[in-house]
Amino acid sequence: MKETLELRINYDFANLLFKDKEGKNLGTSVKIIDLSKDDPRYIQIPIIESHVKKKYDRSFFFGWEVKRKYSKKELNSAELFHIKIKTTFEPTGEECGTIFDETSVCEICGANRKQVGPLTLMRGTIPKKDIARTIAGEIVVSDKFVTAYKKRGLNGIKFEAVIFTKGNSDYYQLIAEKKLELSQNTIVGINPFDFSTSNAGELYNCPKGHTIGLNLISEPHVLRLSEINKTDFYASRQMIGVNRGLLKPESIYFCSQDFKKMVDEEKLKGFEFELTHIE
Ligand SMILES: [Zn+2]
Repeated sequence: MKETLELRINYDFANLLFKDKEGKNLGTSVKIIDLSKDDPRYIQIPIIESHVKKKYDRSFFFGWEVKRKYSKKELNSAELFHIKIKTTFEPTGEECGTIFDETSVCEICGANRKQVGPLTLMRGTIPKKDIARTIAGEIVVSDKFVTAYKKRGLNGIKFEAVIFTKGNSDYYQLIAEKKLELSQNTIVGINPFDFSTSNAGELYNCPKGHTIGLNLISEPHVLRLSEINKTDFYASRQMIGVNRGLLKPESIYFCSQDFKKMVDEEKLKGFEFELTHIE
């Protein structure tokens, strides 16, 4: 596996660490840089970030994404994949009139909000993908996805019809029926250089164990279930993220080789896969 960090560097300070010709400029405000962990400049990022913050009260980088590339052999021998749902959209179920029971919501992290009845969304707002999620973590899948899943006899997902505020929907809400426990080797944090569990009054690791961090940094590590290979789809019990306005903490999702094979062969859109470590 080859891991690089894609950073969105503040162009005003990019010359503190990078040459003019390096990376890709996005207009005049952002420079995109792909950095390997072995690059000696990697460890300087947080040092410069803290310098820029102190001296100018600004940020050295705005955004980041860890990118992982696997060999064919690694992918073929994987026992479990982490599914990344790449496309998000709005408005959320809450904004479109979906009903929620909030009586047992965790007052610290916002977990345990219970959806009552069907997920209601707005027609024309769902991206043209076979899987996508709202910014509140509600997952919808296409008719094509459901047909392929059923045809192949996969298991682990419950599908519920999505309702549109106007007109008929041919989308389904995806609900994971089984959960996996993330292990302590799963690295979470605000970003790859800041592993704080709180910031600006927000707490990212709920003391009741519902949430573990703001962002996933490493590949996920899960605890082995005795019959882990008998299910094609799982959600993590613990959640990642924060309860901030419409944003809600979300599970991360896992799938089997057979599930990934379906996505590849049927050319289903909206998925990315990484490996998951089972302990
Ligand atoms: Zn909680």
